[in-house]
Amino acid sequence: MRPITRSALRPYVCPSCRSSSFSGRRRFGSKSDQAPDVYDVVCVGGGPAGLGLLAALRASPVTSKLRVALVETQDLQKARAWNLDAQHFSNRVSSLTPSSVSFLQKIGAWEHLDTDRAQQYQEMQVWDGETGSRITFDWSTETSPFEDLPTVATMTENTNLVRGLLSRIAASGDENLSIFSNTTVSSIENGTSQPDGPDLSAWPVLSLAPTNSSQSQSPTRIAARLLVGADGINSPVRRFADIATEGWDYNRHGVVATLSLADPDSPSFPIGTRTAYQRFLPVLGGPIALLPLPNNHATLVWSTTVENAAYLKSLSPKAFIAMVNAAFRLSSADLKYMMRMERPATPASDYEDSHESELTWRLQHTPQAAHVPPMVNGVQEGSVASFPLRFRHASTYISPRVALVGDAAHVIHPLAGQGLNLGIGDVASLSKTIEYAVTHGMDVGDILTLERYTAERWAVNAKIGGVCDMLHKIYNVPGQGPVAWGRSLGLEVIDRLPFVKGFLMKNAEG
Ligand SMILES: Cc1cc2nc3c(=O)[nH]c(=O)nc-3n(C[C@H](O)[C@H](O)[C@H](O)COP(=O)(O)OP(=O)(O)OC[C@H]3O[C@@H](n4cnc5c(N)ncnc54)[C@H](O)[C@@H]3O)c2cc1C
Repeated sequence: MRPITRSALRPYVCPSCRSSSFSGRRRFGSKSDQAPDVYDVVCVGGGPAGLGLLAALRASPVTSKLRVALVETQDLQKARAWNLDAQHFSNRVSSLTPSSVSFLQKIGAWEHLDTDRAQQYQEMQVWDGETGSRITFDWSTETSPFEDLPTVATMTENTNLVRGLLSRIAASGDENLSIFSNTTVSSIENGTSQPDGPDLSAWPVLSLAPTNSSQSQSPTRIAARLLVGADGINSPVRRFADIATEGWDYNRHGVVATLSLADPDSPSFPIGTRTAYQRFLPVLGGPIALLPLPNNHATLVWSTTVENAAYLKSLSPKAFIAMVNAAFRLSSADLKYMMRMERPATPASDYEDSHESELTWRLQHTPQAAHVPPMVNGVQEGSVASFPLRFRHASTYISPRVALVGDAAHVIHPLAGQGLNLGIGDVASLSKTIEYAVTHGMDVGDILTLERYTAERWAVNAKIGGVCDMLHKIYNVPGQGPVAWGRSLGLEVIDRLPFVKGFLMKNAEG
């Protein structure tokens, strides 16, 4: 970690006093080797976490006058213009817990999302593909038949969320706001003490360059009272702050796809209840999850070995659909066999798909478990993709004048759908910390100010990341040995203890 210098601890100067004292200096300096442009908060990364922070700061009357900047490598205009018809969905979808949704509502962002594209679910069916033991997260035992069932989570396309946040930020006006889109942070270093200007020797100064510019252009330089790294797993801000991370690669990929479903065999009760399904498949290296989207669509997240992911991605649409249906219905031995079947050389339309016929035949000889998802009958073209699964946790989320949020601070296994929810929790906590500092006349970049943030978030995130890591590990032991017995006992016991289950459901709810 960078050492705390005396200048890092110097007293707070309120934004309006500072801008009046700096305006004189800026009048003299128009060349790029002059003092950098100074902001109260600079956020690097315009993903959901970075945009969430900016939207929160702009929404609060306490922090809305801070001078803020956002730097994003990608073209945010594309994110603003993102538009899909009601029958097509992005393949990057996150399950947002009710706490995340209520935070987005509080900052006025939720109303900027297209909520017709979001799907709530009220029930979860989770079971072990090896032992069959099951835990059912449904609320019907907890609520009266006259009440609406509480929501477990809301499925939301990341692009819908990003577009909504950008729209919320735009609605806050452009005063004291700079958005550097299509711009990459090429370097970050501590500034210098200037005789005719402020002492920036402990302030991060960023050099910004256009992402795709072929012309040599002198970089823009900006200084941050507080620099926020919302810049993802390879965070340049984290590197600048010299914050170490711990972690490992799971040697697994998450295969994602947008699917369409057949009508369910029996109508849901209460009408309109939607269910998320997850089956742990130790023999294939991880769980498969099918999460509901509007109009009888669903999003897939299948955590599996790198080889299996490559195999699945190479299949024809028909064969891919057969594999997904098989993964929720067939035995481990059948699945292992089907995952090794040869792929025919002829294009999919020209042959009767061998995976499909294999599934049909094997289903006739497999007793069917209750509560499997409806059959998948379509896969959206171009939606099958995979992402490497990793665990990372920063040793701290703060350093003088630096804070990390979202994937820059922690990356966890997606089996509980918590990664982005943790990021939104960070944003809620950091924006509250900044609000507190402004209200109490403290320096927003001061390490003592930021302590509140890391104290509130680090242990919570470590606990949830650790539970996901442990679940990944215990559900990766194939066979019927003691580990399988122990985990099935765990699920069965939890399923029969209403109080414990209720506690877990409330935690899943967030
Ligand atoms: C298969 C899969 C399924 C998942 N499902 C869920 C789920 O159901 N629920 C859930 O809560 N989470 C889920 N997650 C996790 C979730 O997707 C991530 O936690 C979330 O997207 C991270 O958001 P972020 O804003 O922190 O980072 P990112 O989305 O990575 O954004 C970082 C941004 O920083 C920008 N950037 C990077 N470097 C620079 C630079 N030098 N200069 C300028 N800009 C830069 C990048 O362009 C990017 O836009 C899932 C993850 C995976 C892999």
